[in-house]
Amino acid sequence: MDAKIGVLAVQGAFIEHIQALTALGAECVELRQAADLQQELAGWVLPGGESTVQGKLLRDLGMYDGLRAKIAAGMPVLATCAGMILLAEKLSNDDKVHFATMPITVRRNAYGRQLGSFRTHADFGALGTIPMTFIRAPYIEKVGEGVQVLAQVDGKIVAAQYGNQLALAFHPELDTFESTAVHEYFLKMCEDK
Ligand code: GLN
Repeated sequence: MDAKIGVLAVQGAFIEHIQALTALGAECVELRQAADLQQELAGWVLPGGESTVQGKLLRDLGMYDGLRAKIAAGMPVLATCAGMILLAEKLSNDDKVHFATMPITVRRNAYGRQLGSFRTHADFGALGTIPMTFIRAPYIEKVGEGVQVLAQVDGKIVAAQYGNQLALAFHPELDTFESTAVHEYFLKMCEDK
């Protein structure tokens, strides 16, 4: 696979995504400023971290409009955790939305303080059972038309896809020692575009 993938690198867990994709044979570039968005790339990763900070940095760095326009136009995106919050059209416990390109309603920090972080295994679409690590994770409360639910844990939606936007509440980049299925699936999405 010789796809070139852009990984948003303004804050959060981007290095783990770069390692995971590089190990699968993809070339990765870090997206740190508006000029980086001009490159010919097969897909983008929006990593976990802190969505409020990421949203502010994206605006301050002049990256917001460029990212939003290409995502809305069909650029393949793998969005994990905070990345999923950036894509959500609506946040049930926050007034501030970001790209709002995916018709999902997301609850931030949805598992509360007690269960802030946990690891489990669950079915993920056609990929079978995969490991899922949650860190102060959101979940999807509602999906709009055209959104495919890919995974649920305890009755809560934790993964969904809308066209080329793949949104996960958990962190597959932290579980690559056990499974690289999600990153392989994303690279396939980028190839098929
Ligand atoms: N709690 C973070 C937020 O609301 C997301 C957590 C994560 O990305 N691991 O932005």
